[in-house]
Amino acid sequence: MMKIALISSANFGSSDSISRSNSFTPSFRETPATLILGNESHWFLGRDLLPNGFCQGLAADSTKLIEQWASVRGQLNRDARPIELPPDVRWLPPVVEPNKILCIGLNYADHATETGAELPTIPVVFNKFPTTLTGHEQPIVLPAISDKVDYEAELVVVIGKEGRNIPAANALDFVFGYTCGHDVSARDWQKGKPGGQWLLGKTFDSFAPLGPWIQTADAFENADDASVQFRLNGNTMQDSSTRHFIFSVSFLIAHLSKFCTLRPGDLLFTGTPSGVGVARTPPVFLRPGDRTEVEIAGLGVLANPVVGS
Ligand code: MG
Repeated sequence: MMKIALISSANFGSSDSISRSNSFTPSFRETPATLILGNESHWFLGRDLLPNGFCQGLAADSTKLIEQWASVRGQLNRDARPIELPPDVRWLPPVVEPNKILCIGLNYADHATETGAELPTIPVVFNKFPTTLTGHEQPIVLPAISDKVDYEAELVVVIGKEGRNIPAANALDFVFGYTCGHDVSARDWQKGKPGGQWLLGKTFDSFAPLGPWIQTADAFENADDASVQFRLNGNTMQDSSTRHFIFSVSFLIAHLSKFCTLRPGDLLFTGTPSGVGVARTPPVFLRPGDRTEVEIAGLGVLANPVVGS
């Protein structure tokens, strides 16, 4: 059982900068990042815990760790000393540059009903760009061209192994771990524009808070029976469980891998339960000053302030 996170702090210097790539979300481009790993009670620096050389120049590359986890997990330095998280800790998304962010549109029967959609017989799939990703306690930025930005709490699956045409019976072998995700959604773009602009409505920068950390799959065996909650300014707006999934994690992995090769670090947002803002009377949309919280039992709380642009 291990937690994996990326943080930034002046205490850990800038030797592990993720600015080596120009393709990160602009706000992370010049951010020094440090890979940390945690057990039930302590956090450790990746460079102390992982085999020699593993982190050099690549500390931010959690995707590399995910890809090599099967061999690395047996080589952890058992003499590594735990660290205290510094007061200035800034949480980054635990995966910063996934090859794909796949999202399921309707995966809870109650959410399909509240939005007036028919129950899907095959999954509704869309995507977000990596520039949507942001970390725990980082702001969700409301775009100037939308006034109907909604919230969606979601369980996120982190793929651990490359695969294509994966049988459902083996699908969970391809899961590295799980984390909390927030599928922020501009309803006026998602549904109100010609053609139904799902991609644009879902893919504004900062529209995919993720984290605070990834929990390895061995410590989260209840992916299809986990409570999922969303709180807005402390008020519970969504309160459900993944046992109400229309399509299980295994089914989704098998289904998606019929279309495209799944790669380590790919993210799968598994859909949101009922209680979203657009379906309320009157509707509720995010406003500057709001505070959002996604809580999934066993995975912690992903909290984000909302700001204007
Ligand atoms: Mg969603």
